[in-house]
Amino acid sequence: MPARVLVVDDILPNVRVLEAKLEAEYFDVVTAMSGQEALDSIAEAPPDIVLLDVMMPGMDGFEVARRIKSVPATAHIPVIMVTALSEPSERIRGLEAGADDFLTKPINDLQLFARVRSLVRLKQTMDEFRLREETSTQLGVLDPAVVLNEGAGNARVLAVVDQPAEAEAIGAALRDMGEVIIEADPARAQEAALTGQYDLIIVSLKLKNADGLRLCSHLRSSVPTRNAVLLGLVEATDTQQLVRALEMGVADYVVKPLERNELVARVRTQLRRKRYQDRLRQSYQMSVAMAVTDPLTGLHNRRYMVGHLDNLVGRSNAGGKPTSVMMLDIDHFKKVNDTFGHAGGDEVLIEFAARLRRGLRGIDLCGRFGGEEFLVAMPDTDSEAANMVAERLRRFIADEPFNIAGATLPVTASIGVTTVRAPSDTSAEMLDRADRSLYAAKAAGRNRVMTDEKPVTANA
Ligand code: GH3
Ligand code: MG
Ligand code: MG
Repeated sequence: MPARVLVVDDILPNVRVLEAKLEAEYFDVVTAMSGQEALDSIAEAPPDIVLLDVMMPGMDGFEVARRIKSVPATAHIPVIMVTALSEPSERIRGLEAGADDFLTKPINDLQLFARVRSLVRLKQTMDEFRLREETSTQLGVLDPAVVLNEGAGNARVLAVVDQPAEAEAIGAALRDMGEVIIEADPARAQEAALTGQYDLIIVSLKLKNADGLRLCSHLRSSVPTRNAVLLGLVEATDTQQLVRALEMGVADYVVKPLERNELVARVRTQLRRKRYQDRLRQSYQMSVAMAVTDPLTGLHNRRYMVGHLDNLVGRSNAGGKPTSVMMLDIDHFKKVNDTFGHAGGDEVLIEFAARLRRGLRGIDLCGRFGGEEFLVAMPDTDSEAANMVAERLRRFIADEPFNIAGATLPVTASIGVTTVRAPSDTSAEMLDRADRSLYAAKAAGRNRVMTDEKPVTANA
């Protein structure tokens, strides 16, 4: 799918020129002619990147950037400010408003395409992790509030520069952000980098005795440095070099001569982004490690079900719709194992899970809770509806015998049902109540539904 670019400018010919250039490079272009129109367009269909004019009547580009970056739902969308001003103070204002980069009018096409592509690439990686983050957040592995406030302190920065004045300027500018190591010799720098301890590596693309681009390429593809942020120092006049660096995976760059505040702003932005991404990656690995499905039946496992139920109960307690649960246990399952062997028992569990899936509504979530015990969480379901669903499910299981190892076998289950007692119920208490009703159903003769220890099944 082509990347979607939102072009924002109050002057129509400017919009048309950028639109034509980008469409010729196969980008999908949408346009807006004011700050408000841009924000509306983003809210309706988020683009992959925004090209934003600075000077517009009403809401200017700085304010638009600030609003995009201050809302969690849009903060990850890259913003390039397009400006006629090349004053460092304007660039810094933009970076502080959250802009990812600047392009100065008249726009250099090569630089435009390279920058848009590199930022879109970064965003797409991030999107992938954000999607996983949603799941991890649902699992309770990740606290989303923490992620939005990543700091940029305590960083480890390696700067590969061979001009003493640059080395000094970088050391002084970044002193407050953490530890800064300056290395003039590219071979030694590479060796140091491969220890994998650096968050951010600054590489001068014009070194006396080495090719800075080659070093970047090497760092980008080596495992210990693959996740470090690369920041290039480029010559103001060398557009070709900048374009190649961006295509190679340099996340950002600073043009020489170094402007202290701009360097600080860009390094800070990149460190925040890296921390955010590191955390997303970590939480993803964590949630994968704690697998969420039961391998035999493919249903959710206990851990997932409890996490999900916690969320549902929290919502109900906060004034949302009621949540109900049912706990099911297969009757005399030991006899199945005794008669058909353990493999036969497994077949029954697999078929039982399949019937749960088929016999439930789309909104209900089912999981295997333990051996031959299953849990169904029913959002937006009051007690009456829950009892009805449970009774229908009981019959769906009991009415049609199972086919196991060439034999037909009647299978029944006992079911305990309960509904949330807002506003101060807990998942643990609900599970406890469901369990007691399940036990009561067993005691009363099995193959029946009980809710809060009272019978639901008629004439059982
Ligand atoms: P009740 O009606 O009281 O529930 O009787 P029951 O025999 O179903 O209950 P009990 O809890 O006494 O026995 C459950 C059996 O389920 C014992 C255990 O060996 C078997 N079981 C647990 N997990 C598995 C599994 O993954 N596969 C198979 N085949 N059997 C299992
Ligand atoms: Mg049982
Ligand atoms: Mg049991």
